Amino acid sequence: MADILTTTAGAPVADNQNSLTAGPRGPVLLEDYKLLEKLAHQNRERIPERVVHAKGWGAFGTLTITNDITKYTIAKVFEPGTKTELLARFSTVAGEAGAADAERDVRGFALKFYTSQGNWDLVGNNTPVFFVRDPLKFPDFIHTQKRHPKTNMRSPTAMWDFWSLSPESLHQVTILMSDRGLPKTPTNMNGYGSHTYSFWNAAGERYWVKFHFKTLQGHSYYTNAEAADVIGKSRESYQAALFGGIEKGEFPKWELQVQIMPELDAHKTPYNPFDLTKVWPHTDYPVIDVGILELNRNAENYFNEIEQAAFSPSNVVPGIGFSPDKMLQARIFSYADAHRHRIGTHYEALPVNRPHTAVHTYHKDGALNFRPNPTNPDAYYEPNSFNGPREDPAVAEPPLKISGDAAHYNHRDGNDDYGQVTALFNLFDAGQKSRLFLNIAEAMYGIPDDIAERQIGHFEKVHPDYAAGVREALSHVTKAQAADTARQQAAAAE
Ligand code: NDP
Repeated sequence: MADILTTTAGAPVADNQNSLTAGPRGPVLLEDYKLLEKLAHQNRERIPERVVHAKGWGAFGTLTITNDITKYTIAKVFEPGTKTELLARFSTVAGEAGAADAERDVRGFALKFYTSQGNWDLVGNNTPVFFVRDPLKFPDFIHTQKRHPKTNMRSPTAMWDFWSLSPESLHQVTILMSDRGLPKTPTNMNGYGSHTYSFWNAAGERYWVKFHFKTLQGHSYYTNAEAADVIGKSRESYQAALFGGIEKGEFPKWELQVQIMPELDAHKTPYNPFDLTKVWPHTDYPVIDVGILELNRNAENYFNEIEQAAFSPSNVVPGIGFSPDKMLQARIFSYADAHRHRIGTHYEALPVNRPHTAVHTYHKDGALNFRPNPTNPDAYYEPNSFNGPREDPAVAEPPLKISGDAAHYNHRDGNDDYGQVTALFNLFDAGQKSRLFLNIAEAMYGIPDDIAERQIGHFEKVHPDYAAGVREALSHVTKAQAADTARQQAAAAE
């Protein structure tokens, strides 16, 4: 027999088809609380959409450690043989919650590991670098990806204006416009922690670390034309692929690898190893296999477990630390702040965000605090004489050494924004290059000439073939678009 329908207060509902009215023709009586409750709930079904990474797809799974890296870190999640439950959420960056999945955009690759020492979140992307290296530029950058204040449309002019005035973006722009900028599904792409983090070991030695998750499904991508076709048929192609695959028992996997840099090497590398627009060349810092990440369980309720999932780089565990990367430091603040705004003060008490270990804080009250009292209710402040939770000096992080004078450093000085892009460009075969040129030309179509020229000047510094290829593709795109416009005008005149 079906359950009895109730109000949110648990009282049985006698009639869910007809509101309470004064006679057969109305009006509705104000005392129809059940109607009021239903309407009030509907009005509150949305929480603020994420300003970035609004459209997402997620699933649960496990990380299994197959190799021993305990000489670098005391984090228990990395002990050989350890299996840790996790949640992954993939996303596009710019589109709103209803945007089509198969759009050319960077993909978020956010992971929450429910470790035996609390939650460790690694909130990365499918690219190893980013468009800017200074958080002061991040809100402006995102404004160029979102809608124009007057037209309410996306603005290629704004995008290329910002990028051409910010040459540090060139590395990420090249990846975005290459094949890897439009993966077929979330399982056909790599994930990168992107920032430099740190490890520390039992001897208190610190190492800098980069995290990589290499897809075991293989890289697979759409061209712009193929993606337009997919979007014409389904706006939810990623959700269908990820959710549908896991329902069918096809569990996607990634190999977790790390690059390790001894602490003092950071002074020696020709590039700033904490600059988010740079990678660490593999020949200098080879990747080390660590384990296998597998996704094997869909959420039961998308809103509860994926929309309300709250990832933050501030969630680290003993053995894993931060680095001087300025972008990382800003995200440590802004992600937790976003979730307090989006979900509420106690967002980490929600089942999907709650660690699988005990939580003992002295935070008190606040909206929707449903955490129980401390074991001894007299121990509700600290320090106390009632055996309340105590700090554990054993997990103290070794000091992060910093030095220097506080100033607004221009991080463009002495920084090569082109060399690593040249290395990437040289990896592309002829087909990859011609698709890169076409994708850029299509994205640039219609922007003012001076902005296009400034951007082509950056391509020239990467490789003369890069600039020449984009120039040629632009002339084809312009001719094709002009012919298209003429056809449309002729058709309209008939
Ligand atoms: P390597 O030749 O050792 O590494 C090249 C790496 O580039 C590959 O391992 C692969 O990364 C990635 N790659 C290969 N083909 C493509 C492609 N079509 N699109 C995007 N990435 C691709 O040289 P370096 O380590 O010196 O790197 C050279 C350039 O490769 C870098 O400047 C950077 O642009 C790019 N790259 C480097 C990464 C790194 O961590 N060193 C990571 C990703 C890209 P993966 O194995 O991660 O798939």
